[in-house]
Amino acid sequence: MRAVDLIQKKRDGQTLTEAEVNFLLDGYLDKSIPDYQMSAFLMATYFNGMEKEELKTFTGKMMHSGDLIKFDGIDKFLIDKHSTGGVGDKTTIALAGLFASFDIGTAKLSGRGLGHTGGTIDKFEAIKGFSFPQTKEKMVDVINKTGTGIMGASDKVVPLDKKIYALRDVTGTVMSIPLIASSIMSKKLAVYADGIILDVKVGSGAFMKDLEKARDLAKTMLQIGESFDRKVVTVLTDMDQPLGLAVGNSLEVIEAIETLKGNGPKDFTELVETLVAVALQVKGDAATIEEGRVMVDEMIKSGKPLEMLRSFIGEYGGDPRLVDDYSILPQAENMLEVRSDKSGYISKIEAEEVGKSAMVLGAGRATKEDEINHAVGVVLTKKIGDRVEAGDIIANVYYDADTNLESSKKLLTDAFEISAEKVEDRKVILEIHSVNI
Ligand code: URA
Repeated sequence: MRAVDLIQKKRDGQTLTEAEVNFLLDGYLDKSIPDYQMSAFLMATYFNGMEKEELKTFTGKMMHSGDLIKFDGIDKFLIDKHSTGGVGDKTTIALAGLFASFDIGTAKLSGRGLGHTGGTIDKFEAIKGFSFPQTKEKMVDVINKTGTGIMGASDKVVPLDKKIYALRDVTGTVMSIPLIASSIMSKKLAVYADGIILDVKVGSGAFMKDLEKARDLAKTMLQIGESFDRKVVTVLTDMDQPLGLAVGNSLEVIEAIETLKGNGPKDFTELVETLVAVALQVKGDAATIEEGRVMVDEMIKSGKPLEMLRSFIGEYGGDPRLVDDYSILPQAENMLEVRSDKSGYISKIEAEEVGKSAMVLGAGRATKEDEINHAVGVVLTKKIGDRVEAGDIIANVYYDADTNLESSKKLLTDAFEISAEKVEDRKVILEIHSVNI
C-alpha cells in the first residue's frame, strides 16, 4: 500500500477500506507517513468527508492509539458530560453537586483553557489547595467518596488526536465535521463512561457558528456512538451570548454555587437542570426529560447538591466553607461599572468579545505559558431581551491592575448591541437527540 494512492482515493471522493485507514494512521503514528502526506489526506477529507464505516474505523484507530481508561471498582452509573466550549460555561462545577446527589458518578478528563477564559481545570483551581487525582486508583477513590472524578487531560490518552489536531490547526482543516467528530468521540470512548452527554454549543461564541453545522456535528457524533454501541445524547445549546452572567474563574465558581442554591441565572439554571434530567433519563431513573426536571428541582430545594459539592471540594483539598463564604475565593481588588450609553432592548451580546474582555484582564491565557489570575473577570447584569435605559449598568468588571482596563471596557461595550424594538429572550436549549437510550 502507498499513502499517495490513499490520498488520491480520498481526493476522488471514494471510501477507504478498514485496512487502508489503519495503514494511514499506523504510518502517521510511527512516522513512516510524513506530515505533508497526512495534510493532503486531511484536506481531501475536509472536502469529501467520510462514510459511516470509514469514520468508525478512523475513530476506533484514534481511540486505540494510547491508553484506554476504565475505572473498575465503582458501583455508580458513570456519566461523562462534555461541552464543545463556550464563554461562561461553568456547568461542570454545578453538575458535580447535582450528579452526586442522584448517585450518578462523573468520570472525565478535563483541560485547561487557551483563549477567552479558563478551562474547567482552571476554574476549579480558583479554589486554593484544590488538586486533581493523579492516578487511576485515586480517581476511583474520589468517585466512590464524592461521586465526582475529574482528572487533567493526559497525553497518553488518544495521542494520535493531539498529533493530528496540531496538523489540522496549521493546514486549515480544523472545521471538518468527520474530523471534529472523530477527535471528540475518540477521547470520549477511550475513557469509559456508561453514558456520554455532549453539550454542542451553537452561535457566535462557539466553535460551531450555525445550527445547521452544529446539527451535522451532533448527528455525526451520535452515529459514531451508535457504531460503538454506546449511550450518547447530544444537547444543542445557544452560545450567541455568554452562558449565565459571570465570565472569569472565581466569579464562575460563585455563579455555579449560587445556582445550586436556587439563585442562578435563568439560562444557566435551565441548562444545568436539563443536563441532569438527561442524565437521569440515560441512567433509567426518569422516563422523560420533563420528569427528570421535576426531580432536579426538588433536589435543589433539598440542599443536598450543596452538601455534595462541599464534600467534593474538601476531598480535592479545597476549603468546603467557601460554599457559604465566597471571601475564601480569590477576590479582585477593584470593580468598574460599565453603563449603557443608550436606551432600548439588548439585541446582541457577542460572547467571544465578552470572553476577550475577561481574558485581557488575566482571566484566560493568550499563550500556554500565561499565568491565570483567578480573581478577575466580568459579570453581566443584562442579557438579550432585557430592557435597558441610558446610564444603566450593563456589566461589572472585576480587575486587579488597570493595565488593560480600557481595552477590556471597550471590548465589553462593543459586545453589546441595543435595539429600539423589543427583542425576544433567547432559548438556551435548542435540540436534544440521542442513541441507544
Ligand atoms: N474539540 C476537539 O476535541 N477536537 C476538535 O477537532 C474540535 C474541538
